Amino acid sequence: MNQAPQETLHWDLTDLYSSPDDSRLGDDMGRAAALAEQIERSYRGRLSSLGAVDLAEAIALYERLIELAYRPQMYAQLLFAGQTTDEKAQALLDRSRRETTEAFNQVKFFEVELKKLPEEQFKALLEAPGLASYRHFLAAMRRFAPYTLSEAEEQISELKNLTGRAAFSQLYTEVSSRLRIPVEVEGKSKELTVAEARALRSSPDRELRRRATDGLMHAFEGQGHVLNFCFNTLFQDHAVEVKLRGYPSACEPTYLEDELPEELVERLLDTTERHYPLAQRFMRLKAKALQLSDFSSHDVLAPLPGSERKVPFEEARETVLEAFRKFEPGFAAIAREFFERRWIDAMPQPGKRDGAFCSGMLPSLHPYVLLNYNHRIEDVSTLAHELGHGVHFYLSRRNTPVNFWAATPMAETASVFAELLLMKRLLEAEKDRGARRSLLSLRIEDIVATVFNQVSYTRWEQRAHARREQGVLPLEELAKLWMEERRRLYGDSVQLFPRDRFGWLGIGHFVHYRFYCYSYALGQLLVLALFRRYEEEGAPFIPRYQELLSSGCSDTPQRLLSRIGIELEDSSFWERGFHTLSGLLDEFEALI
Ligand SMILES: [Zn+2]
Repeated sequence: MNQAPQETLHWDLTDLYSSPDDSRLGDDMGRAAALAEQIERSYRGRLSSLGAVDLAEAIALYERLIELAYRPQMYAQLLFAGQTTDEKAQALLDRSRRETTEAFNQVKFFEVELKKLPEEQFKALLEAPGLASYRHFLAAMRRFAPYTLSEAEEQISELKNLTGRAAFSQLYTEVSSRLRIPVEVEGKSKELTVAEARALRSSPDRELRRRATDGLMHAFEGQGHVLNFCFNTLFQDHAVEVKLRGYPSACEPTYLEDELPEELVERLLDTTERHYPLAQRFMRLKAKALQLSDFSSHDVLAPLPGSERKVPFEEARETVLEAFRKFEPGFAAIAREFFERRWIDAMPQPGKRDGAFCSGMLPSLHPYVLLNYNHRIEDVSTLAHELGHGVHFYLSRRNTPVNFWAATPMAETASVFAELLLMKRLLEAEKDRGARRSLLSLRIEDIVATVFNQVSYTRWEQRAHARREQGVLPLEELAKLWMEERRRLYGDSVQLFPRDRFGWLGIGHFVHYRFYCYSYALGQLLVLALFRRYEEEGAPFIPRYQELLSSGCSDTPQRLLSRIGIELEDSSFWERGFHTLSGLLDEFEALI
């Protein structure tokens, strides 16, 4: 075990392949292609005649293919992320992606044939003891079956989508990514991209925040005609799709994807709306901390003084490990392996991709983490976040490939939980009032953004879709709905301006997905509620939590949680999440 100097910690990818020239890369791709062929030869047209034992064998082969086909691609993705300008990495990524797609196209019949099995026969398979570990995988695969059209119709729909939905989605991206926002920065006028202008909304300079926000809204308004046309077309496209496939509601495809009943999500949305005053309370406290009597929409992301301290990487590592250790020494032991065995790439490098991620890899492999550590307190939080994912994937490795990756509603559980553990640890250790205040503010701001904002977005989206069914919506009508939802969220705690009515034009989630925003709220609130349970119960909670993280996607989120005594249907469960937030707000208020 070689201990790398931590400030230059680079990941070691040799657990996968020795280099992009490793001959085993080509060998594995070849083996994957051969296996896909073998699966096709043995099973195409035959799945409906298989008994439980033979079907289990077929799925096990399918899982073998997942392991074989993804391994080279995952290596290529990591290699490329670490060095995006490297031509070998680019070529390998391109080739491995093509090979993986081809292999899985060849076994596409697998899903199609299983979906078509007569209901009686399928039910009997679900009950068969030999298929117990694949029960959820099979049931999940079939959940869209009632809304699937004939093969010919599906093919036409897929082809027409390229010039329909996908084209409008792309037009939206092209128009919005070409926007340039003129903003005066440090006395010079600059032409900024949307991302650059957005980043200025958290500048300590209030006038700059205002100019950036004005510029952004003005730029979106300038393209409002085209962008609104994209929104209108995509809303209508969705309505047609829902009708043709017979879904009971516009939101149903999303909730079905996440395996959650509509009533449950609606209850979550309602409960959050009832707690909008908590978001307003935070805004008022923040206004007080910033000493602003006219706290405005361009102040929402303003930083509080006290967060400027630089944290050396060694210290960040020890703080995160200590936070994990205080929760459960086993978690710290797993997280420590990331540093000692070099499963983590820590520092920014020329050519390295930005941001941070944890790649869960496969059950046969440990996860990897990429960071761009920049010594800010937010970067320490990101380290905890990604290591939370890391521990989650590590524990999930006891599952076979089809049960390995956690489903959307659960995917951010361990990561956000880890951020809360870190915050508690930092608050215990930090004596400086300003630093404590700014730590709490950052955390609460994140909660407000993921819970309240996303619910407010979802409500706007639901209303917009419903109105679109009655005819084309002019830009100003969607803008009016947007302001209504914004005012409902903020009350009089934030001053809004006419420019703010175009905020929705900049939210790509409404264009590229449908009703996706609620899942951020659900994920965050789930963690806040779990954290509350932990604070109430202490040690007995930990093995149950560990069990949850170890279960991957071996069952629906609802049943996995129910197994550890958490009932999502129970609205008092969601209330717990708001209790946690209320407690954080009390702590924050005491520091102002
Ligand atoms: Zn994450």
